[in-house]
Parts: sequence; structure tokens; C-alpha cells
Amino acid sequence: MNLRKLSSILLGMAIVGSLFNCAESALPNGPGDISSSSDGQLTSSGFLGSSSNPVDGGSSTTGSSYTGSSETAQSGGSSLTGTSSSNGIALPLGNAPSVSILPWNGAKGAYSIIMDDFCLATTTSLRWADSAAYARNMSIGFAIVTGSCQATDWATAKIMLGHGSEPVNHSFSHAAGATPVGLEVDSSTHMIETNTGFRPTFFGYPMDEGSDAAQAELKALGYLGSRSTTYTVWTDARFNKVAGFNGFTLAYEPKSSPTYPQLSYADSAVARGVWGLHESHGVADNSYNQWTSHAEFETHLDHLAALRDKGDLWVAPPSKVIRYIKLSTLATWTLVQATGAFEIHWTTPADTLARYSVPLRLQVCGEWTATQSGTSLNATLSGGQTKISANPSLGTVRITPTGAGNSLCTNNSGSSSSSTATSSGSAGGGAISITGSLQHLVAGTYSATTSCTGMVNLQGTRDINVSINGSPNIGLDYLAVPVPGPSFNLVVTGDVTVSCY
Ligand SMILES: [Zn+2]
Repeated sequence: MNLRKLSSILLGMAIVGSLFNCAESALPNGPGDISSSSDGQLTSSGFLGSSSNPVDGGSSTTGSSYTGSSETAQSGGSSLTGTSSSNGIALPLGNAPSVSILPWNGAKGAYSIIMDDFCLATTTSLRWADSAAYARNMSIGFAIVTGSCQATDWATAKIMLGHGSEPVNHSFSHAAGATPVGLEVDSSTHMIETNTGFRPTFFGYPMDEGSDAAQAELKALGYLGSRSTTYTVWTDARFNKVAGFNGFTLAYEPKSSPTYPQLSYADSAVARGVWGLHESHGVADNSYNQWTSHAEFETHLDHLAALRDKGDLWVAPPSKVIRYIKLSTLATWTLVQATGAFEIHWTTPADTLARYSVPLRLQVCGEWTATQSGTSLNATLSGGQTKISANPSLGTVRITPTGAGNSLCTNNSGSSSSSTATSSGSAGGGAISITGSLQHLVAGTYSATTSCTGMVNLQGTRDINVSINGSPNIGLDYLAVPVPGPSFNLVVTGDVTVSCY
């Protein structure tokens, strides 16, 4: 980002410094397309959001709109004077709040189960496994060997699909490398779609042996990812990270691996803030490397459910996790002031929204209620932040202040009329106390203290490196790591915002 250019943009805006609160810590760093809203119903305050790769900004100074980025938290800079009513009490609308997309659907890590060999005669327990997951409000991926399926199997597959479980293509005949692709990939795809109504988007290679021909065909068919040892890139042990994500080079972990025996794979996904993709087969049937008893499998599910219920782990089928990773990094929006509300207008291309359609977990500074197309959205308040689940493909999200409203977003670094990189925050390091409120840091070495025990969240841009107690994270755009302790060393090479819970 060109900071001088940014400064000129900000200086051209009607900024009222004393009104800055949660917007304070923002680091505008988005595309240079500066524009005002053309919607006559709305004011001219538009805020462009983007989580895509920053493009050097433009130089327009018209209106009171400017760019933001989900990497850096949305922010406002104009004088906003609307009011809204909550329980008959008029609340000041205040500044535009920071808006960001949380990783892993708001949890610390993600986890998917794929159970292979549905339809093979040796693997008769996956319907039971699905019901055991469904009883815990979870779902699985089940990998279908389509050439072995009978009509009753397809009927079962539709029931499992109805529980939210995902049909995964496991080839037609369980052929290594899934070749010839016309039969093993294309026909198998067609059979799943014809018999279940679901067009598969994830491929589990038989014996985990991939091939170039099949990889190319899967991409041509619009698949989101595949699982094979052949193409796995072990970027972070046996886990997948948002940074550098590629759905066709996924790391995964088979059941009974000596590396992560049983439950510790899920624990590690939480601790590392990554996605664990677990591979197994049937339960107490004749399948390969089976779960030896129902109790063994249910213990695994109960462990996942406990982590989920603590808010630590998001458990979902593989394609849903891939869509979340992709959309959370590709989503763009404009935050626009309306009468007594702000609106998140998605500007993501329609084909991207369709391909990666999935609810995102949004975090908005302050206390808000939210609606989308007139329907109330789930919104929960925690630590001065409201978390909202919304699928961008379903349209504009409208947020209205409630309770303490935007006043929950405190300015941690004194008054400032600008959110440029050098105007606020701790100057180049030193002692810092990290709290639940967003704070702006510039490059430096910090001795951090905190009373948080959950996660430290850092947002920056992709050319910023962060290290915590000497562990480097290169090319940060969003980092969520478990709080290392009440005090720790933090080094950043550029502007970031930080908070914790
Ligand atoms: Zn198999």
C-alpha cells in the first residue's frame, strides 16, 4: 500500500477525529476504486472492503468513501450523524464500525471427517456413522465407489445428504489414480449427481493415489479439491492453512496414524489454528482400517462435539470448509451508511459468490442486530464485538446499533483524525497490553501482556511478517493463534491491528 497516497485520500475526507473509536485502528489497504454510493437512499459514505490481494490505491479524494480491507478491519472516517431506535431509545449511529471475516467460522480451527468406501460390500456402517454424527449436530463426508452402488445405497446416500453429510466422489471402480478419467472421474461424477441430486465437488482418490490426468479433469469439472498422498503439500505438518491454500494439495491424516493417534489430531487443529482433514473407513464392519467399535467412533465424535461446544472447533464436511477458506479471502464489500443503520453491500463477483456460496462469520465492532433481505440473522455479542453469520450470496447485510451500540468500540490510542499507518498506536514497539478491543500497531518489537486466555487475532497485509515468542508467521493477512500466556514477545514488520479474547 502506498501510504502517502492513502494519506491524501484520508485528508480529502470529512474526518471528525473525535468520533473515531473502533474505526481507529483500521489500515485502509484495498483496491483503489474509490467511489461514492449511487444509491439515492443512502448517504455518500461508502467504505469499500476487500480481502483480496491489495492493489495500490487510487488518488480520488471525492466524497467520503474510502477503501478498506478485511485484512485490516473496516473503518470509517467521515462524520456520521444518523440515529436509530432500539426499544424506543434513540441510539447514536456513530462511526462506521470495523467489519472483518473470522477464520474457521469463528472457531480456532476446523475439522472434517471423510469416511471412505461407501457402497463397497466391506463397508456397511456409514449410514450408522452418519446418524451418530447427526445425533450430535455434525455431518461427515462419505466417499462413494459409484460402480458398486445399488439402488438401496443411493436411497441411503440421499438420507445422509439430507443430514448435511457430503457425498464425496471416490471413483467408479476404486482404481488407483482414478484413470481412465472418463469412467473414474466423469461417469462417477454423473452417477452421484443423477442418483442423489448433488453435484460432487470433492474427490477422494482410491488408495490416496492421484494422477495428473484426474487432477486436470477434476478442475475442468469444477471440483473444489481432492485428497491424495501424491499431491499433498505438507505445509504445516498434517494440516491445512489459509495462507497459500490449494484444495488440490491438501494435507490429511488417516485414522490410527502414529503421528496423531486418535483424538490429538483434533486438539492440534485447535492449538495450531488450522484445518484437519481426517480419513477413515467403516465402523466395526469388514472395511479397511476400520474403527474397531461403535464406542471408539463415538468417543471421537464426542471429543469433536466438546471442542465445538467450547467454540474451539468448527466441524464441517470438506467442501464447506474449502468454500469458507476461499470466500473468506475473496469476499469484497462496501460498507454504506443508511438511515439508522449501516449496510454491507457485497461487491464480490457473482461467479465467485456462486462457486463458494457459504455462510461467513462476520465480526463487527460494537453491539448490533443484523438482517438480510428482511430476515433476522443470528448475532451474538462477545467482548465488545458482534458476530454475525451471513452468506454473501443472499444479499446485503443490514446492521442496526442496539444496546451500547458502537460505544463498545474504544479508542485505545488517543484521539486521531486519521487511520494512516503512522498516526496512532504504539510507536515502534515497547510495552503493550492486548485486550478485546482492536489496537493499531506499527512495525516494532513489543513486550505484550494480556489477560485474555483465548486467541490473539492479528490482521495486516500480505507483506507483513509477525513473530510471537520467536515463531515466525510470514506474509500475514490474518492470524489467529492461541494466547501464548500472560506475557509474550511480539514482533511485526508492518502495520497490524491486534485484539484478543
Ligand atoms: Zn477407498
